[in-house]
Amino acid sequence: MLSSSNAEVIVIGGGVVGLSVAWRLARRNLRVILLERGACGQESSWAAAGILAPGNPNFHGPMSEMHLESLDRYPDFAAELQETTGIDVEYQRCGRIELCATDQRYRMGLSEVRAAAERKTPDGQAVLEMLTLEQAKEREPGIGCDAFGALYCRVTARIRNTRLLKALRRACELAGVEIREECSVEGLLVEGGRVKGIAAKDGPLESDRVVLAAGAWSSQLHPRLEEVGRVFPSKGQAVLLHMENPPLSGIIKRKHCYLIARRDGHIYLGSSDEPEAGFNKRSTATAMSELMSAALEMVPGAASASVVNMWAGLRPHTDDNRPMIGPVPGLEGLIAAYGHYKTGLIFAPLTPRIVCDLIIDGRTDYDLSRCIPGRRGQDGSKPSRRRF
Ligand SMILES: Cc1cc2nc3c(=O)[nH]c(=O)nc-3n(C[C@H](O)[C@H](O)[C@H](O)COP(=O)(O)OP(=O)(O)OC[C@H]3O[C@@H](n4cnc5c(N)ncnc54)[C@H](O)[C@@H]3O)c2cc1C
Repeated sequence: MLSSSNAEVIVIGGGVVGLSVAWRLARRNLRVILLERGACGQESSWAAAGILAPGNPNFHGPMSEMHLESLDRYPDFAAELQETTGIDVEYQRCGRIELCATDQRYRMGLSEVRAAAERKTPDGQAVLEMLTLEQAKEREPGIGCDAFGALYCRVTARIRNTRLLKALRRACELAGVEIREECSVEGLLVEGGRVKGIAAKDGPLESDRVVLAAGAWSSQLHPRLEEVGRVFPSKGQAVLLHMENPPLSGIIKRKHCYLIARRDGHIYLGSSDEPEAGFNKRSTATAMSELMSAALEMVPGAASASVVNMWAGLRPHTDDNRPMIGPVPGLEGLIAAYGHYKTGLIFAPLTPRIVCDLIIDGRTDYDLSRCIPGRRGQDGSKPSRRRF
């Protein structure tokens, strides 16, 4: 027999997605139980860099619109969290400089600048601009390598994701979410195509509304989830450095390597992207050496930084790089909220809104055609590799 959980909604997973969804649902007066296999906020959401950047401006469509809307909502989202919990998530629009290492990247960057020409900041400045290397060095004097040019994205922001997770957890507690940690969900309980609850390590739990936010592990919970679009891990390795006077103030990127200056002298260095590593989270000598060499070529002054920590996280990746948000066909009552790949932090203000709409009103005004489970390319037909 199922134990009556008294929950109107069960949320599976305590990463940025599960916590932000649980908070929003509880703020709408629903009784929410969040089940987390380990401790909340210790997986991909913790490992992440905290860059809040617009998607590629060459691509338009519903996902790009949602991506941009979520970024626009960030200042209010961060302020609301601080007001509720007293925790400052260190949101700041610091801009991002991408050094173009090849002529091809430089030309592509110029076409991105043209495509984004209409986009302006509220005070009328271009969102995206191509700087000369000298102009880039005026902004970030620590740059030490050569480049064809430097793509400057004025609206890119940073947050301290570890603080964001603490704030979301606290906000959940204050809103009355029952958080059960060390509680692994082993499967979904389904009868006649309807979700009736979940099977957890401590026994079954009843609820006909379940939000699945278990990151890279999400599609392991029911065979149907593999059919509507699998999610798989894409390992990202990162290093944390520290210096009294860091030689950068914002975000500098070149190829796949980026450095982010934190407020307290820490510098985040990321990241690899290794889908072939599966669920293995080991830091490897190869990735560390590649990241370090690339970082020191870019900003030589970081050579004397202390290495504070290194780690890997598992980004929840899908075949077409788009998240799975929405009802799951064939599993009535289940709402997917996973597969955010490199954008889980970016979508933190928006994914919960969509999930709330679906749970409370049964519908949403957002166009989910490109992220709904079972969409074209996720149903056995050839997936599109195009990004947003
Ligand atoms: C190196 C790196 C850099 C990144 N940088 C950025 C960035 O700058 N900006 C950005 O937006 N995104 C970034 N990302 C991606 C971002 O981290 C993810 O998109 C986001 O964290 C996904 O959040 P999540 O809650 O879905 O997953 P997770 O944070 O992985 O959380 C899932 C949770 O579900 C739990 N869980 C799993 N299975 C079960 C189960 N059976 N029962 C109960 N609980 C379960 C897990 O323990 C985990 O706590 C980065 C990722 C990495 C690795």
